[in-house]
This record gives sequence, C-alpha cells and structure tokens, in this order.
Amino acid sequence: MKILVINCGSSSLKFQLIESDNGEVLGKGLCDRIGIDGSFISFAKGEGDKVKKEASIKDHSDAIKLVLETLTDPTGGVISSLDEIGAVGHRVVHGGEKFKSAVLVNEEVLKAIEECNDLAPLHNPANLIGIRACMELMPNVPMSAVFDTAFHQTMPEEAYLYGIPYEYYRKYKIRRYGFHGTSHDFVSHRCAKLMNKPYEDLKIIVCHLGNGASISAVKNGKCIDTSMGLTPLEGLIMGTRSGDLDPAIVEFLCNKENIDFHQVLNILNKKSGVYGLSDDLSSDFRDLEDGYNKKDPNAIRAVDAFCYRVVKYVGSYVAAMNGVDAICFTAGIGENTAFVREKILEHFGYLGLYLDKEANKKRGEDTLISTSDSKVKAYIIPTNEELEIATQTLKLL
Ligand code: AMP
Repeated sequence: MKILVINCGSSSLKFQLIESDNGEVLGKGLCDRIGIDGSFISFAKGEGDKVKKEASIKDHSDAIKLVLETLTDPTGGVISSLDEIGAVGHRVVHGGEKFKSAVLVNEEVLKAIEECNDLAPLHNPANLIGIRACMELMPNVPMSAVFDTAFHQTMPEEAYLYGIPYEYYRKYKIRRYGFHGTSHDFVSHRCAKLMNKPYEDLKIIVCHLGNGASISAVKNGKCIDTSMGLTPLEGLIMGTRSGDLDPAIVEFLCNKENIDFHQVLNILNKKSGVYGLSDDLSSDFRDLEDGYNKKDPNAIRAVDAFCYRVVKYVGSYVAAMNGVDAICFTAGIGENTAFVREKILEHFGYLGLYLDKEANKKRGEDTLISTSDSKVKAYIIPTNEELEIATQTLKLL
C-alpha cells in the first residue's frame, strides 16, 4: 500500500510517499515558507534529484493541495491518481498523556489533540491544520496520527515527575513527556534486530543527536527515561537550544539584561546550545568539526560541552537500567560525525565498551562500531521516522 507521510511545521510541510510493502520512497519533498513571501515546493522522485519550484502557498491547505498535485502530475509525478494513496500518516508532536500509541484520526481524536495544544503551541496547531486539510481533500482515505511523545509514555512516575508541587502535575499535567519518540522507537527495535536478540530482553540507550537532540533508555522493550521534558528544551546541549540549566538563570538574565522571560526563552531556544557556546560560530557540526580540527577555541568549547553532556546522560541511564547492552547513535550528528562518537565512547571503557576506530569511519548505514570483544555494543543506526510513521499507520489499518 502507498502511504503518504506528512510532517507539518509552523511554516513548512515535509512529505514522503512510501510503498509500505518494501519501504521504498516513491517521492519526497518540502513546502517551505508557507504564508511568507518566497514560498516554494521542492520534490524528488525516488532517489532522484530535487526539483524546486516557486509557488504561492498561502496556508497549509494550499500546501497539501500542491503536494497532491505534484504527486499526481502527469510528467513529474509518481502516481496517476489520488486513489493510489491508501492512507496518510501524520506526525503529531504532542499527544500528552492521552495518546500512548498511534491512532486512526476521527473527530474525537482531533479534539483530544487540540487539548494538547498548550503543551506544544508552535507545533500541534500546525499538525492539526495539516490533518484537517488532508481530510478535506481526501475524505475517504484513512488518516493516522503518530505522536512524538507516545513512545515515552511507558516511563514510570519516578522518571517523569519533576520535583515541584504535585498539584501542578494534577492540575496542568506538568511532567516529562519526551520527544523524537518515533526515532527512538525505530532505532531501538532496529538495534534488537541487529543484535539478533528479543527486544524485551535488552537494555538499549539511543542517542538521537541532531539539531534537536535527545537520549532515551529502553529497558526490556519499554522506554524508562528520556532527556527531553515538558518541551524539547530540556536535556542535551543542542544546535541552538540550551538543554538543562538552573531555572534561576531565567530571572537572573531578565534582571541583568533588562529583558522579559519571553526574550530569555527565545535566547534559550534559538541562541544557545553549541551555537551560543561557540560564541555564534555555528550550530552546524560540519562547521564545528572544521573549527575543532583547526583548534578554534570556540569550536572546541562547544563540542566538548556537547559531548560531556551526552556522556553524563548515558552514564545516568546505565545506572537507571542497572546495565546496558547497546548504545546507538542516530540522526544528523549521530550518524555522520565520527569524532563526536569517539569522544563520547572513550568514556565507557569501564563498561567493557571499546571503539572499533575503523568501523567508526562509516557513516549513514547500520554499523557495529564496538570491537568484537566489547561486552557492551555500540552501533550507528540511521533513523527513519517517515518509515516508522508509515509502518505504524499500516499496523493500525
Ligand atoms: P538533523 O537535525 O538530524 O538533520 O541533524 C543536523 C546536524 O547533523 C547538524 O549539526 C549537521 O551539521 C549534522 N550533520 C548532518 N549531516 C552531516 C554530515 N554529513 N557530516 C557531519 N555532520 C552532519
């Protein structure tokens, strides 16, 4: 069955048409600058080159229309009619406590997603617009909602509660939710396959290191902890996000810089992380690697702090699970940046994990990067969130 996977951001929409029988990507693309001057669509057939076309895209409904026209275009498209699309899988960022797995969309589900809008005010409304636009244009096609938070819903209370008055959990559901769930789900399952062991018997740590970055601890087939929290701001030092910090810094900065807390949050989301730590050198690890090799102190400071935070999280999850069988690296940095993996893994000799430096040179393919005599395995496992969304959608049908 052909499944269209839709990932709506506030001003962009990514899409992939996947043949679910074999996971083949028939076409993929992006509508960007939705509602802003200079909007465009880019599209690639299968593994082909991207073709970019300027287009007027006023809103997400326009974007969906354009996606469907592009997919069915007689010359540049990949299907001859919309009837070929068997289902649409939508990525939804926040499912709160309500959604512990993917669901088929109906009006009740849409209402429940809307109730989570407070928890992800930038993302959930855009996700909902995308779903509604698709429902309007393809009224007879089943739609699923696949949540970034769902995989982490198995966390125990001790892991998801913050040390604040319990009434705030009771009243507002303030707790750790975690994100990148489809990626942690996909990679941890893939890891069990590569190890040829039952998923339920393993202790796995997944390091999703991209521009946004998070770590999860998966014990006996269940996520028991993850580094992102109520929002994706908590946890690791990221591209531009600060990750963990003393909450008192917010008031301190307000007073010192004479700014309000919205401005501080903007700094913590957009000007911090490796970007801020590198004194605005870059949020991109390709630049930081370059700087690191040239011994630029700005790059060294940012990369060292990034890796140290990952090491601390991995160490704490080893303790939380009372051991670990495998540590997996995924996403842009995790899959591509050998020196970062090396800097992280050199801390885990005490677990009996030793890096195979030759294997670690690989990028972008499933690779065992620990030596054959290592007690704990380490892997590069490229994530595939779209395929996971398509797979979960197919299961629901
Ligand atoms: P993501 O958010 O998963 O797309 O990851 C983005 C991050 O991955 C950026 O810091 C990129 O510099 C890094 N990245 C992506 N591709 C490469 C590559 N080929 N080599 C090094 N870093 C990469």
